[in-house]
Amino acid sequence: MELDETDTAILRCLQDDARASLRTIAKRVGVSVPTVSTRLRNLEQLGIVRGYRVLLDPERLDETVLALVVRTKPAATDRVARGIAESDWSRRVLVGKPGWILVDATVVRREEVNEVLRQITALPEVRAVQEFGGLTSVKDEPAALLAHPLSTSLVCFECKGPVLGEPVKVRRDGRYHYFCCHSCERLYLEKYDRIEAAARKHT
Ligand SMILES: [Zn+2]
Repeated sequence: MELDETDTAILRCLQDDARASLRTIAKRVGVSVPTVSTRLRNLEQLGIVRGYRVLLDPERLDETVLALVVRTKPAATDRVARGIAESDWSRRVLVGKPGWILVDATVVRREEVNEVLRQITALPEVRAVQEFGGLTSVKDEPAALLAHPLSTSLVCFECKGPVLGEPVKVRRDGRYHYFCCHSCERLYLEKYDRIEAAARKHT
């Protein structure tokens, strides 16, 4: 599904400043406040906006930033990556072709780098680790590049499968819900209405 220029402009505002108010965004994009609010809820619902976080500089906090290239048995790539992802020190874990994992890591004290390497090499299917330590960042931008046109691959809200072609789109409570077919739509809305009814009974 393609995102229009309003969506792109809203995302650009937020990427500059996640604390920008709906009013500020509306003014900058040239649309109404309710439009921004609806669009944002939709972008969250689609999983494009994953959250609103503060950007801290690990270097100003005297932390040590490192990058790791981890080589594994090809069949074990995902398993090892998930293992690394569970640690506190891994900040970003990227899987490329089978057998290759890239890791951005941060440790509080420089001595902990050895502990990180020990933990990784202790994983049974790891073949080698290459470490680039004590990195200084020259550029650190959010990974999403907001070029135009932007598109998103829709996932059906009911069966979680990919939505091929035009989605079935339903508006409930000011939000859009997307489905791959009408039977998923029916199943989802039955559940949705049941939950809504139960919630109403409790308030
Ligand atoms: Zn579906």
